[in-house]
Amino acid sequence: MSSLQAIRDALEQSPDNVSLLLLYGHACLEKLRLLDARESFERVLELDPTHTDAQLGVAKVLLLLGETSGAAVRAERVIQVNPNDAQAHLLLCRVLLVEQDRLRAREHFERAAQIDSTLSDPLLERELGLTARDARRTSPAPAPEQVPQDTFEEGEIPQEFAEDPLDDPPYDWRPETFYAPGDPARPAVSFADVGGMDELKEEIRLKIIYPLQFPDLYKAYGKRTGGGILIYGPPGCGKTLMLRAVAGEVPCNYLSVGLHEIFDPYFGSTERNLHQIFETARANAPCVLILDDLDSLAQDRRQVRESQLRNLVNQFLHEMDGMRGENQRVLVMGATNQPWALDPAFRRPGRFDQAIFIPPPDEPTRAQIIALLAKDKPISNLDTAALVQATPGFSGADLKFVFDRAAEMTLSAAIHSGQPVPISMETLLAVARAHTPSTHTWFEGAREHAHHAAPDTYAHEIRKSLSLGAPTPPQQREP
Ligand code: ATP
Repeated sequence: MSSLQAIRDALEQSPDNVSLLLLYGHACLEKLRLLDARESFERVLELDPTHTDAQLGVAKVLLLLGETSGAAVRAERVIQVNPNDAQAHLLLCRVLLVEQDRLRAREHFERAAQIDSTLSDPLLERELGLTARDARRTSPAPAPEQVPQDTFEEGEIPQEFAEDPLDDPPYDWRPETFYAPGDPARPAVSFADVGGMDELKEEIRLKIIYPLQFPDLYKAYGKRTGGGILIYGPPGCGKTLMLRAVAGEVPCNYLSVGLHEIFDPYFGSTERNLHQIFETARANAPCVLILDDLDSLAQDRRQVRESQLRNLVNQFLHEMDGMRGENQRVLVMGATNQPWALDPAFRRPGRFDQAIFIPPPDEPTRAQIIALLAKDKPISNLDTAALVQATPGFSGADLKFVFDRAAEMTLSAAIHSGQPVPISMETLLAVARAHTPSTHTWFEGAREHAHHAAPDTYAHEIRKSLSLGAPTPPQQREP
């Protein structure tokens, strides 16, 4: 959210900046804000009608909206101008798959793979029953008009299509960030790197760490392992950091999934990807499954117009359903800045039945974060208490900004003087006093939502968080 806002702010300053418009379009596309994405790409096309990236951007939006013929026209337009545009061929392949034209989809995939020797798209490859490497090995594809439409006898099913590999998905499939215990690539962050959040740390221990340490005890008390924990709160207060720290703390498999591993324009594939991710977690239990950006996956269905997105939410609810008992020993952790935008059905028992608010750090927590940020930095006479007093309402990210900015200023002074100088308390305090904490905007939004929220939503949590965590309004700060 914050990056979208930053691009929007920049666009206000230069509304016709093509690079910014493209950046915004792609960021919106990733967040599935399809109309905003389309508007941004169309604006680029008004400024430069031959812009390939913008044309393909619109095509992707249309495909997600189910307007396959519009998407095909856009992709074909790009191919007409540049027959060697691999991305356009790939997109056309997806459109043709939606339209059930597997043969032509395959041809465009082969062409894309031959043009781009680095191309790899495991999901599409599985869908087509063809790896990019094999596609490259086949002879160069003939020009589209010479491609025979159907080279098989009527009724004959080509061998590679006889069994759809997706009918029986390989459950040992690993998303990009699957880490077994002891995997050297596993994030080396642990609870010790996260200031505060004691309630959450204990909840994670109770749900997954203690059950692994004391299985008999848990069995004796009939306590189940795993479940769902939702963490929410203002940006920059350490939700992502905490989710990464779980990797360093839990003695079991850890699977963290990015939206790019789930979303796929091909109709039905997004739900299938989500299913495979849950299957992977279940097949590798005990496992923690991390879904950092819940906003796009778990939207309130009443606010969603596209049927594809509603299907995704339904699938997600189905996967979360503890009633089937298959999620035993899987802990699903999700994070959001906007709990009010989530579908209330996620709060039913067995799904995200635990919602934990991550407030802006209080004074003791700020002291802990300051100690973590000051570690290994040359600071003269660090006065933690003074810095804590100067930073009410600051998020962890705001505190990090203070240290980063003070380091930059000191570095610049050191370069000019040619002498190494430590960061002074005066510089830290000056930066802190000039900085407005970023959490206030979130609380304003939360207040607004709490006011209008229906009782079946997260209103209770939001009201509770307002009473717990709202910092006092910012004081007049020195420039
Ligand atoms: P967003 O919702 O915008 O993604 P977030 O709540 O996930 O924000 P993080 O990205 O985890 O916030 O925090 C940004 C940075 O701020 C962290 O990488 C870390 O350097 C610092 N930080 C935030 N909270 C803490 C904390 N409790 N302890 C230590 N560092 C923190």
